[in-house]
Amino acid sequence: MTPSEQPKAPITQDVHTMPRKLPEGPANLIGMTRDGMREALIAMGTTEKQAKMRVGQIWQWIYQWGVRDFEAMTNLSKAFRAELAEHFVLEVPHVVTKQVSTDGTRKYLVRIAGGHEVEIVYIPEEGRGTLCVSSQVGCTLTCSFCHTGTQKLVRNLTAGEIIGQVMVARDDLGEWPETGARTYEARLLSNIVLMGMGEPLYNFENVRDAMKIAMDPEGIQISRRRITLSTSGVVPEIARTAQEIGCLLAVSFHATTDEVRDTLVPINKRWNIEALLDALRTYPKVSNSERITFEYVMLHGVNDSDEDAHRLVKLIEGIPAKINLIPFNEWPGAPYTRSSNNRIRAFSEIIYKAGYPSPVRKPRGEDIMAACGQLKSATERGRKSRKQIAAETGLAGE
Ligand code: SAH
Ligand code: SF4
Repeated sequence: MTPSEQPKAPITQDVHTMPRKLPEGPANLIGMTRDGMREALIAMGTTEKQAKMRVGQIWQWIYQWGVRDFEAMTNLSKAFRAELAEHFVLEVPHVVTKQVSTDGTRKYLVRIAGGHEVEIVYIPEEGRGTLCVSSQVGCTLTCSFCHTGTQKLVRNLTAGEIIGQVMVARDDLGEWPETGARTYEARLLSNIVLMGMGEPLYNFENVRDAMKIAMDPEGIQISRRRITLSTSGVVPEIARTAQEIGCLLAVSFHATTDEVRDTLVPINKRWNIEALLDALRTYPKVSNSERITFEYVMLHGVNDSDEDAHRLVKLIEGIPAKINLIPFNEWPGAPYTRSSNNRIRAFSEIIYKAGYPSPVRKPRGEDIMAACGQLKSATERGRKSRKQIAAETGLAGE
């Protein structure tokens, strides 16, 4: 600050009434919480009395009917619409490419502020459809079997960029209800999984705010039981997820000894299997969800023996659980291969006999590199070499 810019008296700003205005231009209303939007309207000059009602109206236009043009918000006065257009924007990520797999899976590459790119995957299923959403550009973690893990973290996505992924998918699927309608007829996009690029619990607040918008009954209306957040095991944030989001939880478990898990999911060196299981035990009760999904990638000769299956069952004893077995999806340069179908079947059988559902996840969209763990965008600060990853994870190279 130059001397002439220095304030003559101290400025006390109440953070609660400060608009979330970005220094580089008008603020994006998409991604603001209801409270945040109310504060932004008040800062623009709307009276406290009016602000709540205005938020409700704008909210419906944006999240119930998919409108992105203030002019079209016809229950707001012309003057108010003009004021909104002057102070705010309604921005969602820009779709750069869309690929459609032979099995109907769609993959979108979208561009966000700063020219960064992330991938989103839509998976149509019988009577429902799941959107796999990204939470970060790249990932700070370096799970050795994951393609995203070879891409350094570039930045966290904002809440607007996270909920914006749901909105652009809905645009493409053409399933916004008609203006005025309160419920959705078709539900092509009925479920959300936070299983795209990034570790959602390292971007907690933005993920939470975006999911609150997704669940809001006056908007996108996806029940918290249809939202699954997958974490590699960020233990300190698990209790918060139960309390503040309340969605279903999936955990990238992938190994039954700390020795192996340290190499596959290196965050295990920070919070080991025991610490993770402790955090998981209270999750279902606090979040009022039925059970936790344990994701387990099947890697040939690494974690797929009968002993592993027996150990897994023992470890999770007492936790309401479902074990989702994921046949490893290969990517160029990957240091592993997929377990055989017979091996996966035998593994699944042991778990099933112990009383846990153990479905094998069917790879979807493999032909367009849209399957679990195959996502990666060109946005990079610097590519890690396989050698670097091997050194970081303790693996002996290829
Ligand atoms: N970062 C989060 C969510 C994203 S990954 C997490 O790690 O949980 C979603 C799931 O796909 C995780 O269980 C992840 O471990 C798994 N995965 C990653 N790479 C994979 C691959 N190549 N094949 C199969 N599953 C993979
Ligand atoms: Fe990151 Fe999840 Fe991939 Fe691990 S599996 S590198 S946490 S995206």
